[in-house]
Amino acid sequence: MNNAVNFTPVTVNFPTRGGCTDTPVLRERGQREVFCGLTGIIWLHRKIQDAFFLVVGSRTCAHLIQSAAGVMIFAEPRFATAIIDDRDLAGLADANDELDRVVARLLERRPDIRMLFLVGSCPSEVIKLDLGRAAQRLHHRFAPKVSVLNYSGSGIETTFTQGEDACLAALVPMLPEQSVQAAPQLMIVGTLADVVEDQFQRFFSAMGIGPVVSLPSRRSTELPSVGPTTKFILAQPFLGDTARALEARGAQRIAAPFPLGVEGTTLWLSAIAAEWGVDQSHFDATIAAARDRAQMAVARCRATLEGKRIFFFPDSQLEVPLARFLSRELGMQTTEVGSPYLHRQHLAEELAMLPEGTVLSEGQDVEAQLERCRAASPDIIVCGLGLANPLEQEGFTTKWSIELVFSPIQGFDQAADLAELFQRPLRRRALLATGRTAVEQAPGETAR
Ligand code: SF4
Repeated sequence: MNNAVNFTPVTVNFPTRGGCTDTPVLRERGQREVFCGLTGIIWLHRKIQDAFFLVVGSRTCAHLIQSAAGVMIFAEPRFATAIIDDRDLAGLADANDELDRVVARLLERRPDIRMLFLVGSCPSEVIKLDLGRAAQRLHHRFAPKVSVLNYSGSGIETTFTQGEDACLAALVPMLPEQSVQAAPQLMIVGTLADVVEDQFQRFFSAMGIGPVVSLPSRRSTELPSVGPTTKFILAQPFLGDTARALEARGAQRIAAPFPLGVEGTTLWLSAIAAEWGVDQSHFDATIAAARDRAQMAVARCRATLEGKRIFFFPDSQLEVPLARFLSRELGMQTTEVGSPYLHRQHLAEELAMLPEGTVLSEGQDVEAQLERCRAASPDIIVCGLGLANPLEQEGFTTKWSIELVFSPIQGFDQAADLAELFQRPLRRRALLATGRTAVEQAPGETAR
């Protein structure tokens, strides 16, 4: 039997048109309720294990990242804030001198730091502190032991997940040049939890796909190279600037839906397998067990979620892939799907799979959107922390979008956990309603 005769390469079979491809987008430019890009430090510092993030900002910035980090107590945290004080703001002190002193002290005290990010904030922008030049100056001073880079996480320029995009885009110029003769390599772009990355790596090894590198890498000393033989795939939908910077260095993007849910994960992996010419039956056999297990686990969540109406406020830019997963695999009805920014090209496959009739909005005018939300009267609302409490008080069930970024949700083994994140608030609301009913009922009556 000649194997070559039976070889059928994987072909991608996701739509690129239809669904919501041509749905007009409601563009809003009003007041918004979204975290700034500093929030990304919380997951980025966990991923790049020898990097340090120094926010050049105010007490508010320090407070934000500390409270976003929750109750995590670090013996040696890998983020901090260099506070711009009143003297700096009044122009009485040279903020550059102060910054150089803070950095020198930090690097002396923490010889484990190999990469230092100076992260811009609203105050550093207001006083027009040129962090690009500061990073260059400090990079020369501390190279080669420490690389110093900068990006902006300010609320004026970035929302929430855009902080990661800015950070990774700042890393791209640091990546070594890949030789044109080098074998094609796959680059996974976007922070994934280590456990998810390891699961994907096992599939790639089993299918003979490699070498595989990640951006960001777990250590700054292991930055991947990049060049014309690099094919990259986004693991997150909010990395427009990073993708552009990689393309400018010759890398080519593999288009695919995002690896959320069973369907998204299968299509994401199949797009990679197709590029590497993997045999279809080998691909199917490699993923079969994990996919079947995930399908069964997701099906168990369907009973609670099917037919429920969901409304997304713009927050993480994960909204479109999430809506696709929830509507197609769990039978939820999407009312409005809001996103801070809709990247038409990177979301083309996702939009094509979104049910027709979904309202798409980009940007925010929070009061107008609250009105639309109340009118839609959804069963569950995905929104930021600032909106969740008032909406709960109005009787709505909410899900904090920040949790969806902090939790490992990509891949087969996490598909049911992702569905569970939406089930939980509905269950809690149902329990509260039952409890209230029991209290309100006359003695002897049974709660429904
Ligand atoms: Fe607030 Fe701006 Fe600091 Fe973010 S960067 S915490 S929006 S002051």
